[in-house]
Amino acid sequence: MTKCVYPGSFDPFTLGHLDILARACALFGEVKVAVLHNARKSSFFALDERLAFIRRAIQAKGLNNASAVAFEGLLADFMKLERADCVLRGIRGAIDYEYEAAMAALNKRLYPICETVVLMASPEHIAVSSSMVREIGRLGGDIGSLVPEVNRETIAERLLADE
Ligand code: ADP
Repeated sequence: MTKCVYPGSFDPFTLGHLDILARACALFGEVKVAVLHNARKSSFFALDERLAFIRRAIQAKGLNNASAVAFEGLLADFMKLERADCVLRGIRGAIDYEYEAAMAALNKRLYPICETVVLMASPEHIAVSSSMVREIGRLGGDIGSLVPEVNRETIAERLLADE
């Protein structure tokens, strides 16, 4: 059974992220979303909030082989600890590709048995990003087509309160 880890900041988790996760759940035995806790890089949403958004989305979508946990430090070390076989990432276009190719090469160097599997973004989510959600939400725009329905209100309220 292939166990894969889907690492990221998820600040916040978007419909683009959920699409990648759901498609991976159909391909792999187990998918663990690993939410990066980086003390030196600030995120808008706290770690607990980011985790709660993902867990709610997983439950609402009925993804029984998905879960969400926090991690810090090197992804390669987390992969070893979890005895995971592959890293899951998504790409929207050429800019993502450059970054993902470099990350995959690095992870391979640090943990040679680990493979990186990249899924292409679905066409309707190519322009969706966490930073766009934060930007639109802060300005009071409709984020309904960008984040999972179960989290929409909470995210919108938090972002509006930031202005
Ligand atoms: P990072 O890990 O660079 O902080 P994110 O947390 O935003 O990035 O995203 C985690 C992963 O999901 C990355 O591989 C990113 O390219 C991918 N991703 C982000 N948005 C989308 C989207 N709309 N469709 C598909 N994949 C996406």
